[in-house]
Amino acid sequence: MSFFDDVSRQARDFAAVADRKAREVADSAKTTAAIMSEQREIEKNYRVIGEWFVNDYEGDAPAAIADVVAAVKASQEKIAALRASREQPAAAETVVDAGRACPNCGEVSNGKFCPKCGSPMAAVEEPVPAPAVEDEAPAEEPAETPEAPAE
Ligand SMILES: [Zn+2]
Repeated sequence: MSFFDDVSRQARDFAAVADRKAREVADSAKTTAAIMSEQREIEKNYRVIGEWFVNDYEGDAPAAIADVVAAVKASQEKIAALRASREQPAAAETVVDAGRACPNCGEVSNGKFCPKCGSPMAAVEEPVPAPAVEDEAPAEEPAETPEAPAE
């Protein structure tokens, strides 16, 4: 084997090694990406399991995850409270500042009757009449129970 043959062979070997290393790196990157993809799938499915457990599982959570379930429910309650606190002031301001729209002509007023067309304004949003309606409701109940006079 001549010196040049030897150099040529070494060069081919070197190129082959470099090529194999490049493929290995590419394969390694593909493998890493594939592993990450599967991990995302697992996390997605874990989330479904968790959501089902917290929202639909009936019965007490096993002790091993009771704290986690309680934490999720506490967060859900906080979110509900935060949303309520964000919506309530806006609704109250609308009533106080702008009044209500007349159901007949759309004129905005705080009065009981529309200043423009005289139609009664919707009283649903006024807080005072609500308890009065609730007081009347129980009065109807004795009429619906004919067994009471028999006793
Ligand atoms: Zn009107």
